[in-house]
Amino acid sequence: EDKEEELVIDYVSKNMNNMTVKMPYQCFINGQFINADDGKTYDTINPTDGSVTSVSSASLVDVDKAVAAAKEAFENGEWGRMNARERGRLMYRLADLMEEHQEELATIESIDSGAVYTLALKTHVGMSVQTFRYFAGWCDKIQASECVKEEMNDTVLLFYPTDNQDVCAIVIPWNYPLMMLAWKSAACLAAGNTLVLKPAQVTPLTSLKFAELSAKAGFPKGVINILPGSGGLVGQHLSEHPDVRKVGFTGSTPTGKKIMKSAASNLKKVSLELGGKSPLIIFNDCELDRAVKMGMGAVYFNKGENCIAAGRLFVEESIHDEFVRKVVEEIKKMKIGDPLDRSTDHGPQNHKAHLEKLLQYCETGVKEGATLVYGGRQVNRPGFFMEPTVFTDVEDHMYIAQEESFGPVMVISKFKNGDIDGVLRRANSTEYGLASGVFTRDISKALYISEKLEAGTVFINTYNKTDVAAPFGGFKQSGFGKDLGEEALHEYLRTKAITVEY
Ligand code: NAD
Repeated sequence: EDKEEELVIDYVSKNMNNMTVKMPYQCFINGQFINADDGKTYDTINPTDGSVTSVSSASLVDVDKAVAAAKEAFENGEWGRMNARERGRLMYRLADLMEEHQEELATIESIDSGAVYTLALKTHVGMSVQTFRYFAGWCDKIQASECVKEEMNDTVLLFYPTDNQDVCAIVIPWNYPLMMLAWKSAACLAAGNTLVLKPAQVTPLTSLKFAELSAKAGFPKGVINILPGSGGLVGQHLSEHPDVRKVGFTGSTPTGKKIMKSAASNLKKVSLELGGKSPLIIFNDCELDRAVKMGMGAVYFNKGENCIAAGRLFVEESIHDEFVRKVVEEIKKMKIGDPLDRSTDHGPQNHKAHLEKLLQYCETGVKEGATLVYGGRQVNRPGFFMEPTVFTDVEDHMYIAQEESFGPVMVISKFKNGDIDGVLRRANSTEYGLASGVFTRDISKALYISEKLEAGTVFINTYNKTDVAAPFGGFKQSGFGKDLGEEALHEYLRTKAITVEY
């Protein structure tokens, strides 16, 4: 009966990319788009031209309303009674709708985050669709994990079935707004939970479009709630909320620590996908042109706003100079410009404060004595564009060797020819452990290194290749709890033991 209700949506419409994109801009609570309780709004800025879209700014009252709606949907609504196969069908339907709207979604993603349209279409939206399909398939395959018959006395049976968590809060960053939503929400929904999601304040638009599509797909009211707004307010209140049982978070390590503290209030289950400073080791026996191409992708993909970006390259001495020369040659061919233009390679950084932080980061590198080989400056045009940048002669103690830039900054250090254990030690001497990579033609060396690298993901002779079926997540201060793959599902489930005597 809920589905018959007319969904009333106010849109902001813009003519972009040869189409009219229709963007909801209000909070999505209990199946309806509504203004924030106190009527507040804020502007999200297009990083290419500075134009703004005004969206609702959720208040604490809205958080309480959304959590109440999610709780009601879980405990008493149609969702709680729905069988798993039907849940899967809804998720497939949503994936189909996202695919039907992929051009509109990619355009919105591009104008809100600065992602190059071609990448937004393939990765931001394309992988989100795949993620929903992958987890839709899991819905009816979640089973009791064990069933043991007591040996001495066959009157007792133990089972360990899995159960959903209840209301989950999801808090995500701005680099892949839709994909981060998909990675967490799809696993959360497949496991039968309801959710309240807070997108990053600077990139709320695709998540609100997603809310619209979820309603059109037929998700019952209250199952999915989306609240644009501030991290310190909405994000924190969600992590503290007594009726939320689980927080799925992707973002920076300092915020992850805050979330863990807030979540301690009622001992919520927490999964954290945090920052990284991923090492990429390039040996002199690699296929050099491939290492140059992939190494550049490892750093400049999505203008460096990529959690698994290679934060540090270690290049073997004998090929170091040639590697650097080739990288610079390739950078000069990159087309920097309007991300909606299909031939653009490199778009604007996500927002102004981030650009400023990156310029500061480069200044620090220069002050510390690293060699700025290329870039380091803002591009002379409107918007928040930064030149792809290359530093060499970077020493281990330097700030730029230790801290994540989250931007298009290649940080290169040399290592002595043949010093495998030395470079491994240096690669692992970071508090992060998200991803890593190695380029060599020697498979024994590659596997030896892969085993020793302290990172949740290792790429060999490639980079950035992730798949919806492969668990994704970090070690050490890059967090814990996986996204994607079967393991992600268990982040949103809990196990119960039932003993029966007959
Ligand atoms: P951030 O930590 O500043 O913000 C992430 C989210 O948390 C946002 O929605 C923000 O509003 C919210 N938030 C801020 N303060 C909060 C608080 N006190 N309580 C609850 N929520 C709060 O990170 P960011 O700047 O948006 O994203 C960049 C960071 O994210 C980088 O460090 C990057 O490495 C990391 N990241 C990691 C992955 C991964 O999978 N490991 C993926 C993408 C990004």
